[in-house]
Amino acid sequence: MISFDAELQQRLAGIRGQGLLRELRRVDSPPGTRIRIGGQMLLNFSSNDYLGLANDPRLRHAAVEAVEKFGAGSGASRLICGSLAPHHELEEAIAHFKQTEAALSFSSGYATAVGTICALAGKDDIVILDKLVHACIVDAARLSGAKIRVFAHNDLDDLEAKLKWAASDSRHPSPVPRHILVVTESIFSMDGDTAPLAEIVALKEKYGAWLMVDEAHATGLYGKKRRGLAEESGVNGQIEIQMGTLGKALGAAGGYICGSRTLIDFLVNRARSFIFSTAPVPAAAAAARAAVELVQSAEGAARRESLWTRVQELQSQIANRKSQIPGAIVPLIIGDEAKAVEAAARLREQNIFVPAIRHPTVARGRARLRVTLTAAHSAEDISQLIRALKTLDPGL
Ligand SMILES: *Cc1c(COP(=O)(O)O)cnc(C)c1O
Repeated sequence: MISFDAELQQRLAGIRGQGLLRELRRVDSPPGTRIRIGGQMLLNFSSNDYLGLANDPRLRHAAVEAVEKFGAGSGASRLICGSLAPHHELEEAIAHFKQTEAALSFSSGYATAVGTICALAGKDDIVILDKLVHACIVDAARLSGAKIRVFAHNDLDDLEAKLKWAASDSRHPSPVPRHILVVTESIFSMDGDTAPLAEIVALKEKYGAWLMVDEAHATGLYGKKRRGLAEESGVNGQIEIQMGTLGKALGAAGGYICGSRTLIDFLVNRARSFIFSTAPVPAAAAAARAAVELVQSAEGAARRESLWTRVQELQSQIANRKSQIPGAIVPLIIGDEAKAVEAAARLREQNIFVPAIRHPTVARGRARLRVTLTAAHSAEDISQLIRALKTLDPGL
């Protein structure tokens, strides 16, 4: 036992030595624009609760009601002890929201990616990933055993080169037909930039590949009906597998896939993270469903507009990449890991919480402050942030 801990201590020392040690910060308040950490109230710019729904009374009420009606726990996997009504209601609401035939919910976005990619691709298949996709997609692709190819971030020429290779490779005589699965995000989690979805759809169709798009950071924010970037890009009906999480703009927890009824029936039979895992608690499903309804309402539209107003206020003040469409994720690239941690500490001294994001979440030497704005922030909150940022290195 002693040597076990000694070994791990040594590994931790190595992580600390590279400026990469991570520690949990205990928060003693509900999610929101003000959070209490270690007795200090901080103005929070770290949350993916983009529409400010995580502590919304309607979501809380839906969760409480589900606890009263269906209990605190869910008992087992949905295939074992029966599938609770709140999960079905959530999935019907997601399918309706996303305009797909059906949807399936999972306990997290991570579990969604792992279950789905491993169900769809195996060792005879080829999975092509954008260089910057989320860790859960990378892990899923590796676990699937498929041959993996990575294309340069948002680089359509490189994607086409990989597809060309895969399409010719898949014609090699082989005992089973090979499939090509392209996976990308729509809004990238750490850079906040946008995938060229319409062009990616055209390419996957040209080469007969399947496309999976993770809308974790876009659901609730883009498109006329706020379905996501697929809607905004006019390709909602042309993506085989649409993925998202219920834990970001939707303010609850869990993940989902939506697509054809056949896809969902297949995942119920083959997605191991769905089959071999206890169903999410009824409270989570009910809160997520309330959020899906809320996002589609006039209030959802109004919240998105206030978020974009806040984004505009921040972006007009900092010398940062101006994107063609607004985004709630504003990365301030610092580069050096220790400097990023130092900058975050200086902001905390001014009662502002912005996380320093480091390897392995982003590449080495690409450390950053990742500012996220929400509809719950006020114009004064943004001014306070800008004032604090200006006390840092003027390079920001
Ligand atoms: C957060 C995130 C996930 C994981 O979703 P969880 O519900 O938090 O497990 C998946 N993909 C992307 C792009 C994400 O940012």
